[in-house]
Amino acid sequence: MTAHPHRHWAPPPSHTPRPPPGGDVNTIPWIPPPARPIVFKNAAVVDVANNSVKKSQTVVLEHGLVTSVSRDADVVVPGARVIDLDGLYLCPGLVDCHVHINMSDGRPSSGYTDPHLRATYTLKAMLARGFTTVRDVGGATFSQAQAVKQWLTPGPRLFQGGKILSQTGGHGDPRSRESSVSSLCCAPESDMSVLADGVEGVTRAARELMRQGADHVKICTSGGVSSPTDALESVQFSPAEIRAITSTVADMQGTLVTSHAYTVPAIRRAVENGVRGIEHGNLLDRDTAKLLASTGTFLTPTLMISTAKGRAPWNDTLPEYMREKNVKVRDAGRRAIQIAEEEGVTVCFGTDLTMGMGYLQSEEFTQRGQLLPSHRVLAHATTNAAKLLNDDKIGVIAAGAYADCLVLPANPLEDVRVLDVGADGRHGGIWGVVRDGRIVVARDEFAEAVEGVGGLDVDLGIEEAK
Ligand SMILES: [Zn+2]
Repeated sequence: MTAHPHRHWAPPPSHTPRPPPGGDVNTIPWIPPPARPIVFKNAAVVDVANNSVKKSQTVVLEHGLVTSVSRDADVVVPGARVIDLDGLYLCPGLVDCHVHINMSDGRPSSGYTDPHLRATYTLKAMLARGFTTVRDVGGATFSQAQAVKQWLTPGPRLFQGGKILSQTGGHGDPRSRESSVSSLCCAPESDMSVLADGVEGVTRAARELMRQGADHVKICTSGGVSSPTDALESVQFSPAEIRAITSTVADMQGTLVTSHAYTVPAIRRAVENGVRGIEHGNLLDRDTAKLLASTGTFLTPTLMISTAKGRAPWNDTLPEYMREKNVKVRDAGRRAIQIAEEEGVTVCFGTDLTMGMGYLQSEEFTQRGQLLPSHRVLAHATTNAAKLLNDDKIGVIAAGAYADCLVLPANPLEDVRVLDVGADGRHGGIWGVVRDGRIVVARDEFAEAVEGVGGLDVDLGIEEAK
């Protein structure tokens, strides 16, 4: 051992007690300091509601909100970072209204990690794809939403309904779902749903979900693809049970009960008993679309999950029953979304990707773009989603809205494929992602501009963000 003459430490002569940071014991140490304001100049602002673009706009972001949008190029905001977008498009952040953050990425047994820990990757990857808000319809918790809100885990704003409410033997019954989705150590499937039967049982279960801070309540009124014993055609929960759930949630100020439902009888039973959201809806017919429109019921189709299951490599991994069920819903789902649009239903963007398919999330834009005009598809993921979530700060770039936006090289109202990140690892045209007024992704030309004002606010630290 050589002696190190500089390596000397001696105790201080006295100990001075330190106050907590900021003098407050309630300070949450991981909440980052407020982001410096941003002034975007020369932005082409995408106005989805009016299917138009406002050129040469100056957009100010402060305190996590958009504070002004104007043609005044001389706006001065003290301490702001000024970024000249040179005509690039500024689009509202995207919303995926049907996700399962605790089972999107990695195979179920990946490293035997807890689903809530794995979700920290999924949330970052979704944000890197431009999704600044997501609605989880099975599995996410109130505390995960808080973690995102506090930037403990970078991710999209999270709306969650806790566990799925299912009848015994229904689509959400973990015992009747595909066993390959269960994991040895943490059984994410049983974390995803709660079983209840009878008016008394479902009332208590709905109250419990509301107590846990659910933003909505998700139920199942039809069978599903990934469960071998409940037929797609099965209709689940009695009318009285559904009414008990919807009235309980309404009494407790819940916003919405939404139902997993593929078939007409399942959709009708749900809507006729107070449900105002339909998930999937693949076998929707025209008369039922009219019912959705006249009752103001939201439809969230999920084309990407059935598309992915129908092609390599996923189709080879599916058991026979699942492949057969998937064929029944895949092509019908493409027709259903068109019928719904024609009948004036408020259609929202959803993907439902599970079992390691999360990387396909933004291909949903390409799939819908084959069936509908681009500006309609963009509305699904912005303005319509804002109505579903009952939050007018989402889906728009205007004073008072959340400072959630994307920087794009092309107009998504004309070609929504600019938002498709691409399964081959391309980044599509998403050059920049801002959530809460914090820049989290910067690529291409936008990366140079961001470098000039001090770089990213938050480095997501994953390959998808590069
Ligand atoms: Zn789902």
